[in-house]
Amino acid sequence: MISRTDLRGALPEDLHGVLPRAQLDVEAALEKVRSICDDVRHRGAAAVREWTARFDGVELESTRVPVQAVTEALEALDPRIRAALEESIRRARLVHRDQRRTDVTTQVVPGGTVTERWVPVERVGLYVPGGRAVYPSSVVMNVVPAQEAGVSSLAVASPAQREFGGLPHPTILAACALLGVDEVHAVGGAQAVAMFAYGTEECAPVDMVTGPGNIWVAAAKRLLKGRIGIDSEAGPTEIAILADSTADPVHLAADLISQAEHDTIAAAVLVTDSEELAEAVERELPRQVAATKHGERITEALAGRQSGILLVDDMEAGLRVVDAYAAEHLEIHTAGASALAARVRNAGAVFVGAYAPVSLGDYLAGSNHVLPTGGCACHSSGLSVQTFLRGIHVVDYSREALAEAAAHVCVLADAEDLPAHGAAVRARFDWEIPS
Ligand code: NAD
Repeated sequence: MISRTDLRGALPEDLHGVLPRAQLDVEAALEKVRSICDDVRHRGAAAVREWTARFDGVELESTRVPVQAVTEALEALDPRIRAALEESIRRARLVHRDQRRTDVTTQVVPGGTVTERWVPVERVGLYVPGGRAVYPSSVVMNVVPAQEAGVSSLAVASPAQREFGGLPHPTILAACALLGVDEVHAVGGAQAVAMFAYGTEECAPVDMVTGPGNIWVAAAKRLLKGRIGIDSEAGPTEIAILADSTADPVHLAADLISQAEHDTIAAAVLVTDSEELAEAVERELPRQVAATKHGERITEALAGRQSGILLVDDMEAGLRVVDAYAAEHLEIHTAGASALAARVRNAGAVFVGAYAPVSLGDYLAGSNHVLPTGGCACHSSGLSVQTFLRGIHVVDYSREALAEAAAHVCVLADAEDLPAHGAAVRARFDWEIPS
């Protein structure tokens, strides 16, 4: 059901060749999404509707969901789901509000200050996936940090669903209503990202697009980056678990399965120094898969080349392996898990010990679940309140403070052969600035 690779003995210097990794060819997908994006750019809403008909089988009259449908979805929402979503929102708000950066003013010299002022992006497009599974939780994870950052204009896009009359899934609409978002578009895939980037008759262009999605969404974000800001490439889900012999194989199997449930190309990786644990997990996986709803999808994900069990000599080697892998989600089930977690350098989010499964983070930990995948965690962070803020340096110098810096400015301007730079400073003083 899942492959096993023995990495005991000397680990290769470059680990990338031995890591299980999805053959996700975003580069190849770029060519296909380029034609979709160009079409939306030139033909606007008509193109968005046509691509929606083609991929989602829905003929839309307008991409914009009537506000009434959003409100009605909340009225019809199962009270238990409403309570769970409200608690998820409350916890996410608590965490993201606390993490909002404050402006910092540094006095460089008397009379000379530099302030870093954090300013929210004005209008954002938030993508909520809805192909294989529907993700009302991703509404919470996108909207809460944007709101806590102070973004004033928010639009959500999520695929049109045939079985719901061409609207996004009702739980997604209800989550939007709970969060006070009334601009929702029934559009998914690359056409949604292009609609946000270029704007259409039905959707004003945005400054930034965030949110997870499949390969088409990831490719469109990569293609349109620059025209719009994006968060990380949050593609097909990954879980890596670092475990020693103290771990419970039943928990580990359950956690690997829980993330394999997202997608046939989701990745589930166990890194351990215990052969007994590896065997116990291998025995446990088929037993649990047989009892779960999406067994077929999970089996395909676990058997894929992106998943596997990696045997290592010890936890030091394990740490090297998980750092090289840079998982979206990393669970640590070892003796002294906190100390080990503190040494992790590359991961989208780290879950420490037996009682912090990734499913908690997916919904209710308060942390964000929109996280970098495909190894991008070595250079990118997950979605956070910071994603929606730009730092502007505000430079405020008095005459005296400039005078103190003037000679150095002029020397450096001459060194770069940009004498007009020095002249701009000289123009302010009636004395000769030495060079
Ligand atoms: P999705 O909403 O991302 O994609 C569905 C859309 O893809 C459809 O609306 C359609 O327009 C488009 N599409 C489908 N087939 C196409 C084709 N052949 N060519 C062009 N476009 C096509 O939903 P999904 O497919 O269920 O994928 C969601 C993904 O998001 C999963 O891989 C899941 O693991 C991932 N996810 C990631 C995170 C994260 O933070 N990394 C969080 C949640 C979900």
